[in-house]
Amino acid sequence: MTIQKHQFDAVIVGGGGAGLRASLQLAEAGVKVAVLSKVFPTRSHTVAAQGGIAAALGNVSGDNWLWHMYDTIKGSDYLGDQDAIEFMCKNAAKAIIELEHFGMPFDRLENGKIFQRPFGGMTQNYGEKPISRTCAVADRTGHAMLHTLYQRNIRANTQFFVEWFALDLIRDAEGDVLGVIALEIETGDIHILEAKTTLLATGGAGRIFQASTNAFINTGDGLGMAARAGLPLQDMEFWQFHPTGVLHAGVLITEGVRGEGGYLVNSEGERFMERYAPNAKDLASRDVISRATATEIKQGRGVGKNKDAVYLKLDHLGEELINKRLPGIREIAKTFANVDPTVDPIPVVPTAHYMMGGIPTNLDGQVVEYLNGSEQSVKGLYAVGECACVSVHGANRLGSNSLLDLVVFGKAAGDKMLAEIKTGIAHKPLPANAADMTLARIDRLDTQQSGESVSEVGADMRKSMQTNCGVFRFPDLLDEGVGAINTIAERAQRLQIKDKSKVFNTARVEALELDNLMEVALATMHTAHNRKESRGAHAREDYAERDDENWLSHSLYYKNDHKLVYKPVRLKPLTVEPFVPKARTY
Ligand SMILES: Cc1cc2nc3c(=O)[nH]c(=O)nc-3n(C[C@H](O)[C@H](O)[C@H](O)COP(=O)(O)OP(=O)(O)OC[C@H]3O[C@@H](n4cnc5c(N)ncnc54)[C@H](O)[C@@H]3O)c2cc1C
Repeated sequence: MTIQKHQFDAVIVGGGGAGLRASLQLAEAGVKVAVLSKVFPTRSHTVAAQGGIAAALGNVSGDNWLWHMYDTIKGSDYLGDQDAIEFMCKNAAKAIIELEHFGMPFDRLENGKIFQRPFGGMTQNYGEKPISRTCAVADRTGHAMLHTLYQRNIRANTQFFVEWFALDLIRDAEGDVLGVIALEIETGDIHILEAKTTLLATGGAGRIFQASTNAFINTGDGLGMAARAGLPLQDMEFWQFHPTGVLHAGVLITEGVRGEGGYLVNSEGERFMERYAPNAKDLASRDVISRATATEIKQGRGVGKNKDAVYLKLDHLGEELINKRLPGIREIAKTFANVDPTVDPIPVVPTAHYMMGGIPTNLDGQVVEYLNGSEQSVKGLYAVGECACVSVHGANRLGSNSLLDLVVFGKAAGDKMLAEIKTGIAHKPLPANAADMTLARIDRLDTQQSGESVSEVGADMRKSMQTNCGVFRFPDLLDEGVGAINTIAERAQRLQIKDKSKVFNTARVEALELDNLMEVALATMHTAHNRKESRGAHAREDYAERDDENWLSHSLYYKNDHKLVYKPVRLKPLTVEPFVPKARTY
């Protein structure tokens, strides 16, 4: 097979919010930048973000970026790195104004300022009461943001490679990253994209679970690529289950509904969050609400035929407000739950939503390894967005902090890449065997004699993750899960595309995506099994308390032998006093 080669200053894998914010920074500076995306960029999962993007603008009531910082650290259950959180919260207002100047059509208050709504865990004066901090474009904020960034990139002449599937990183003997190998989905051709700097912005991997709010394309490709290149994955035991996914459909109902005054009720009509979080109630942090909901269902107070959901009630908000601020939600409820929320409540359940872990990076988006007790950057490689772990979300992300993470660190990574390119670095020679492992991965799909089916192995993986590693984690189920997922991963080594007469590249892509999902699933199960405490979204039945003495540390998972290493949380902010870990109540 002939492999076509191309050279760029920067190659960005992923055309979601993170990738497009970084590419814009580079393209506007005039360097040669390529963005690869396996789908048309504006179909990236960022387009589905509903509720909004956080920043302490103080447009509705007084606000302060330090309060936002405190809320984010508390929300993270103290696992977030305080220097990164300070950087994000301090730069948030600037990032919003910049988006607004790019042309993002934010909703407005009467006085013309940008509209802000309350969101879970966002408070005034260090936890006193809920605050309106989340900027929004109705319930279609991600849509507006992604289209704005895409248009700006077109204007800046970013070069797009649409429906190109990145397969693997090219890493030389010195450990430097020199670009990526990719499959052009339409033709089946293999390409090498050499780059002085490579950025992974491939988004989440929520498709490791059966019930997920994530798009089908969220398969953790960047994490698979990093793991195969010998790099660690950080904090993979922490998965956010969103309290309000539509029962049986998984489609998200934004927290913005509760921000606007909606609330959850059980089969007895009780607003049960008043019991679990007396202050914040339905605007407590997501992990808290998901656990409360799961408990209500487990104790027999669920609603519906199987009593396996709770109701989200919003009819009292009135049709006018719902149509103005939550039009997409009304549509989703009608289509996927067959209810009109201006009249009836929506049946919802906790649903896998967001990956707090990812590829470890520093504040400049550079991928870091942890060697001999210190962090060292991998030359040429960057990561931002949901695939990265910087870590601002720690053990539990606050809603509307992810879109913020994309633009703040997308810009920071773009700036650092630009600085690296401007030093005049040359392309390093590629290793002779650069594509060997990748070609073998593709070949096996066509040549394997007695293979496993992609859909069956995928279904077994999702089932095991859902059963063994869900909202609550039990010791026996985790023990069983480690064995099960290891066996499923072995089967994934023998994937085969069955009907050779009808092989489309899309079938190859699905199989290759499963390779990546498997890496994510393995990392999740092994780290969850080993973390013997409860923190944020990781809730163990046998170790119900947070244990700062032994576990205030980030996990690093390596593909080889499922090796686990732990590194300390960075508790020192950049300029302000540290927020000392304390009990977390809402
Ligand atoms: C339904 C939903 C609602 C949400 N609402 C909010 C919200 O209101 N506020 C908030 O802050 N957060 C929200 N989130 C979270 C947030 O939207 C995501 O974390 C964020 O958009 C991820 O952005 P990203 O740029 O990292 O990745 P994505 O937007 O997922 O983009 C990933 C990109 O990588 C490309 N890609 C992946 N693999 C490959 C490959 N192998 N080769 C080539 N290209 C590849 C894809 O084509 C895509 O372009 C929501 C998430 C969901 C699922």
